[in-house]
Amino acid sequence: MSHLFHAIIHSPFLPVPFRPGAAAAPSLGVNVAWPSRALRLPRASADKREQAMEEQGGAAALGWAARDATGVLSPYNFSRRVPRDDDVTIKVLYCGICHTDLHVIKNYWGNAMYPVVPGHEIVGVVTGVGGGVTRFKPGDTVGVGYFVGSCRSCDSCGKGHENYCAGVVLTSNGVDRAHGGAATKGGFSDVIVVSEHYVLRVPDGLPLDRTAPLLCAGVTVYSPMMRHGLNEPGKHLGVVGLGGLGHVAVKFGKAFGMKVTVISTSPSKRQEAVEHLGADEFLVSRDPEQMKAAMGTMDGIIDTVSAWHPIAPLLALLKPLGQMVLVGVPNKPLELPVYAIVPGGKGVAGNTVGSVGDCQAMLEFAGKHGIGAEVEVIKMDYVNTAMERLEKNDVRYRFVVDVAGSLGSAA
Ligand code: NAP
Ligand code: ZN
Repeated sequence: MSHLFHAIIHSPFLPVPFRPGAAAAPSLGVNVAWPSRALRLPRASADKREQAMEEQGGAAALGWAARDATGVLSPYNFSRRVPRDDDVTIKVLYCGICHTDLHVIKNYWGNAMYPVVPGHEIVGVVTGVGGGVTRFKPGDTVGVGYFVGSCRSCDSCGKGHENYCAGVVLTSNGVDRAHGGAATKGGFSDVIVVSEHYVLRVPDGLPLDRTAPLLCAGVTVYSPMMRHGLNEPGKHLGVVGLGGLGHVAVKFGKAFGMKVTVISTSPSKRQEAVEHLGADEFLVSRDPEQMKAAMGTMDGIIDTVSAWHPIAPLLALLKPLGQMVLVGVPNKPLELPVYAIVPGGKGVAGNTVGSVGDCQAMLEFAGKHGIGAEVEVIKMDYVNTAMERLEKNDVRYRFVVDVAGSLGSAA
């Protein structure tokens, strides 16, 4: 195996740097699989860290956690860290359920650090601020997305790409190195404590339940659309997978004035995609005739699919020099035959959520254009059924947990 394969890849999807080849045997450049090796804190030391946090007197929190790879969630008491000067304490109102939460609680990516309190699409209200906080005050409506920390000194952070910082701290199932290495606990809980640098302002007028999914699903599609020029009126965007991420991509594409085509495995989604979400066209990806007719027509494609699928037929839909952006994270490697990109000079890029700046800009854009996710709001005691339904592709298009309405007002 080439020495290149041993380069350390730091991924915000993983709690610690991942060495390719350790388990999943990725192939360079085309691999979007995530490692299957278990990366758990040693149990005893994790317990000690939790205990240390309790002793420091952080706020008591009630959450729902998965304890093992069954992924079954149940009530879980823990403590938040003692707020620092730059910390904002937030009462969680709503939290979206992202497919990433499902991948993690069932340990499909091999990186679960149980107990896992999922949730990284958080909208809440500020209940307290540290002495050094300048941007928020109690009563503000705020959001928290996929990450709650970064080193703030590396090249990526300096350029405003905290999402690509090697020291990024995920909101859930991350390693909070600044706090004894405790595993972070996400938004399926009544209270969360976050440095103000990673807290987003929710524009007035946005419905809070429909805004929660924007904090991950929204920015994950908005950010690469901006970066790759897939935000220009008249351009043709393909959106693969009409789920949580995909349906928001359709909405952003239409708000940018683009032609948008949904590429889906679910013919039953056609009517809604066109009539309700505003898609211009709908292709069934398993219908070779439909796919053939659309070859060479698209400027860009956002692929949000959560499971293994062939990407060569999707790349054939791109015009020469067209751009594919992979954002879905199947746990098996995708295949990229060079003939699918070399002759047309096509690009294949990846993308992980977006920076704090991207996320704030996305929220402002959503506020201006009235964009929110299509949601099914549930109580926390429905969450295990919701996870089963999400796994079966039975959601239109995002579950959102009414956290405050389920867990009371402990915050
Ligand atoms: P989701 O709501 O479950 O949507 C995924 C969609 O993929 C489904 O609605 C379905 O759309 C399609 N699909 C599912 N199984 C398929 C299969 N076997 N073959 C082809 N298509 C299939 O999930 P999501 O929350 O949008 O997340 C999607 C993926 O993005 C997940 O892997 C998640 O971990 C990842 N993600 C990545 C980032 C990032 O920063 N890169 C951020 C958030 C999430 P159709 O019915 O239309 O085919
Ligand atoms: Zn997510």
